[in-house]
Amino acid sequence: MKVIEHLARAKQPLISFEIIPPKRGGDIKSLLQTVDDISKFNPPFIDITSHAAEVIYEETPQGIKRKVKRKRPGTLGICALIQNKYNIDAVPHVLCEGFTREETEDFLIELQYLEIDNILALRGDTSENKKSQRNNRTINRYADDLVAQIDKMNHGVYLEENLLDARPSNFCIGVGAYPEKHFEAPNLEYDIEYLKKKIKAGAEYIVTQMFFDNAVYFKFVEKCREHGITAPIIPGLKIVSSKKQLVSIPKNFHVDIPAELTGEIMESKNEHVLEVGADWTHRQFNELLSAGVPAIHFYILQDSKPINLLMQKARM
Ligand code: FAD
Repeated sequence: MKVIEHLARAKQPLISFEIIPPKRGGDIKSLLQTVDDISKFNPPFIDITSHAAEVIYEETPQGIKRKVKRKRPGTLGICALIQNKYNIDAVPHVLCEGFTREETEDFLIELQYLEIDNILALRGDTSENKKSQRNNRTINRYADDLVAQIDKMNHGVYLEENLLDARPSNFCIGVGAYPEKHFEAPNLEYDIEYLKKKIKAGAEYIVTQMFFDNAVYFKFVEKCREHGITAPIIPGLKIVSSKKQLVSIPKNFHVDIPAELTGEIMESKNEHVLEVGADWTHRQFNELLSAGVPAIHFYILQDSKPINLLMQKARM
């Protein structure tokens, strides 16, 4: 079933999760344990992240060697497992970066065969090495190009012209958004205009980057509505579970961690940080539910312990 159908039928806000495939050569067992664990919360859909190949230069006795590595393949297989083993809708993330438009079309065809109804369409991050590959490849440059490609396929238009028996796909397309603005955008208004472009191209719902201050999300939704964006905007939350994340989260995701939360975590013993993080997210969770958000999306990646703790608090 499509994410927008889940949202339309829901009598109360939905809870969804985002997981990450294991590292190349890794084992799926611990990820499946995580899925077993979160399936008890009846998520209507689970997102599975996707990762572009990276170009790495390694020094070897024979000189510098260029290697192309995709650190975390496996998104498609995990989607198939989740839909068939758990009967939960899988939402694969599909990226512009690292894939030609032709490769993307092949991937979409595979998703269609697996009866996957939903896609979160994203640009992915550019590295200097990847930028150099762009010139000679037919790639989608921004997420709105990718949304347009999927939307065309939804209308039976494939890359090959006059394709006989071209069957229209029927994907529900979601896109990402940044309440604190995307780090490359000069300002929030600029970023929202491009978000609007993704919706115009065919996206039907929005999932936000994580944020730790609900006021930022509420303001962002208000601005999106002022710009004429009417699609549901699902807030994304993450539970801080270690002191290291006070540095790694802002560095990797370009978001602020409020001074109050930072202070509480710094004053805590390491073994109590998760409790502090879960309490903070629990307060965010309650306020978002009271505000009538359509759903709450949790970035849990491979660890279900923080969300179990939060759900215990939510039941108390
Ligand atoms: P876009 O919407 O393309 O925007 C990128 C930047 O370009 C913005 O600054 C925007 O303002 C600007 N822009 C947009 N369109 C245009 C245009 N037509 N012309 C000029 N400027 C434009 N990354 C992964 O690698 N794998 C994942 O699985 C993944 N999952 C994510 C899930 C969510 C919910 C979110 C919010 C992000 C996720 N990301 C993931 C990170 C994402 O790929 C990066 O943040 C990336 O830098 C931007 O992706 P986007 O789709 O938002 O880009």
